[in-house]
Amino acid sequence: MLKGAPVAQAIREEAAREAAALKARRVEPCLAFLHPAGDGAAASYAESQRKSCEKAGVGHRTLVLPAGASQADLLAAVDRLKQDRAVTGILVSSPLPKPLDGFAAVLRAGPELDVEGMHPENYGRLAERAPTVVPPTAEAAFRLLKAAGVPFAGRHAVVVGRSLPVGNALVQLLLAERPGPTVTVCHTGTADLAAVTRTADLIVVAAGRPGTLRGGMVKDGAVVVDVGTNVVKDAAGAERLVGDVAYDEVAPSCAAISPVPGGVGPVTSACLLRNVVRAAARLYPD
Ligand code: NAP
Repeated sequence: MLKGAPVAQAIREEAAREAAALKARRVEPCLAFLHPAGDGAAASYAESQRKSCEKAGVGHRTLVLPAGASQADLLAAVDRLKQDRAVTGILVSSPLPKPLDGFAAVLRAGPELDVEGMHPENYGRLAERAPTVVPPTAEAAFRLLKAAGVPFAGRHAVVVGRSLPVGNALVQLLLAERPGPTVTVCHTGTADLAAVTRTADLIVVAAGRPGTLRGGMVKDGAVVVDVGTNVVKDAAGAERLVGDVAYDEVAPSCAAISPVPGGVGPVTSACLLRNVVRAAARLYPD
């Protein structure tokens, strides 16, 4: 089982060391999280971020956008955070309720304060294979694949999902590997997903649909990373978190497979934390 905890721990320690080095120069990293009122998932995400930042000696503040806020209010909130000299990174909750345009807020925050690698300047650098802010979930999936210890060179990697922050960003990371794997991307237009995944040595599923990868869809010895986070109800009506992979069906064929929960999630949160620290280092270089 490819557990996220040890990988996340190593990244967190790296972040805490970098944060301590910044503090020695009187630079205090601080993440500001902007989310709309009444969004329970965003509020609990804010709370888990706060704890994670606290443990690493990183500041955290939350700015809640009032219900019914307009696009102008959203941009004004970003401007206020930008003017706050204590803030070294801004994260805008996603998705925002309609008609708010979260991308415009990312643009307004600018590349320096971007901790998710979604500002076009940072994302463009990812495609250019230049040093940049890497989208945390894509990096988490990449780090878990690496943790399986299977060399990438000459292998076939299949990424299911092509969203910009996850599937597409991961594809960029895989393509940057030299020597690296051959990379195939699947999406809803893929005619026969099983025919593709059966040829894969490395599979990352980021589709947002439980059961996207089932028994019989992987070859023996494959490494599978499950990015999906889906809340489903069992027969008794109780909610639980499941991934995109039918774990019990797929695991027997795998050399390694990440669980949900406890796989990509904690690594993503560690990568985000490290991005926050690095944003502060970029703002206040030595
Ligand atoms: P998204 O924007 O909805 O993208 C889903 C992608 O999967 C799309 O490219 C879609 O294809 C493709 N897809 C959907 N169903 C498919 C199917 N049956 N066969 C093949 N491809 C299919 O989602 P996302 O933001 O990338 O997130 C993906 C999953 O990761 C979600 O469950 C999300 O909750 C989870 N997630 C987890 C973390 C974490 O930290 N663990 C962080 C972020 C996201 P089209 O492009 O053709 O529509």
